[in-house]
Amino acid sequence: MNVENTVITSDLSSLPTPYYLLDETAIVANMQIIARLCELSGAKALLALKCFATWGVFDVMQPYLHGTTSSSLNEVRLGYETFGNNSDANNSDKKETHAYSVAYSADEIDEVLSYADKIIFNSISQLHAFKDKAHAQDIPVGLRLNPKTSNSSFIIADPARPFSRLGEHDKDKIAAVLGDITGVMIHNNCENDSFEAFSASLADIEDRFGDILAQLEWVSLGGGIHFIAPSYPLEKLADRLKGFSEKYGVQVYLEPGEASIHGAGTLVTTVLDTMHNDKNLAVVDASIEAHMLDLLIYRESAPITSVNAESVEVLPVEQVQQDAADNTIIYGRSCLAGDIFGEYALAHELQVGDTVAFGNAAGYTMVKKNWFNGVNMPAIVIRRLDGSIDVQREFDYQDYKASLS
Ligand SMILES: *Cc1c(COP(=O)(O)O)cnc(C)c1O
Repeated sequence: MNVENTVITSDLSSLPTPYYLLDETAIVANMQIIARLCELSGAKALLALKCFATWGVFDVMQPYLHGTTSSSLNEVRLGYETFGNNSDANNSDKKETHAYSVAYSADEIDEVLSYADKIIFNSISQLHAFKDKAHAQDIPVGLRLNPKTSNSSFIIADPARPFSRLGEHDKDKIAAVLGDITGVMIHNNCENDSFEAFSASLADIEDRFGDILAQLEWVSLGGGIHFIAPSYPLEKLADRLKGFSEKYGVQVYLEPGEASIHGAGTLVTTVLDTMHNDKNLAVVDASIEAHMLDLLIYRESAPITSVNAESVEVLPVEQVQQDAADNTIIYGRSCLAGDIFGEYALAHELQVGDTVAFGNAAGYTMVKKNWFNGVNMPAIVIRRLDGSIDVQREFDYQDYKASLS
């Protein structure tokens, strides 16, 4: 099921907004694509928890993925506790819990290792500081490489930006520590929907690091490959990954974040006020700064997936004429002047009380939500595979207060 078809059912109409609505059927559709890619290529897929960590839906994701990967102590612990199947270490279906962080502190490393099946260090100095502890427990150790090329259209999200701290790039220095590691991680894609661009960048990596790769057991190629798009040539990607894996004799890992949950979440809001200032304005009971922060960081607009319970309209952002005087700008309720969900050409003017649902609200939303302006945090609501609705989590004043002192 595609998010564009999401209809606010009568079950939901009684729920107070705002809430994130997650659709398990849509998640499973993505999972099936990932599982097929893994089957065809031999790669293993780990959910990147930094993108999506709503563990209330992990039961439907677990059968399709090989585990989780993390960017902090809290994430690796969450992966271990909620995705791990760790009760039985001999279970062949045991999930892998990968640990990575831009920088570990000395006082957390023991706990990190207690959850980790593999640990990836960001730098050679971190590797030297902590490798002995990992080796003593037979935990495979990896190093993040920085290939100095990337597929990211935003400098803020570009791991290969000038002076980047994300991974080691000097081949001689890396070669000198090969005895300490069995694998590497390279993450240099960001919503890259071009197979050709991915393949070319992998070729760059092979040129730069080929003889290093040949001495390893595993290579993680990170996330950011938008193979979930219906038009993506999945078989070509699988062939490329399989060839790579065979050429260097390595197990390939992928770390899909956005691809795992793309199209599976909406943020459902209610119009609180309407105004007019050269254009139609509407204010909803959520905020991009607090609840869909990436819209602010990347200056993007949220797709609207539905307006009102009855009339479902799909308005791809690219079809909106920004200069049309009868357009509606939908604002968030924080006091940030630019708290804007987007500008839309709507068939009907919005009225106070209308429901507006924004798409692409699963990844990098719930993991980033905050209490700016004290705006009420959206509940997390799950539409289960059988169609039933679970209000998984609600937040209230006590959560707000507890987060501050
Ligand atoms: C962010 C990140 C991912 C997930 O990226 P997506 O674009 O959400 O697929 C995977 N691995 C690493 C190391 C990351 O930093």
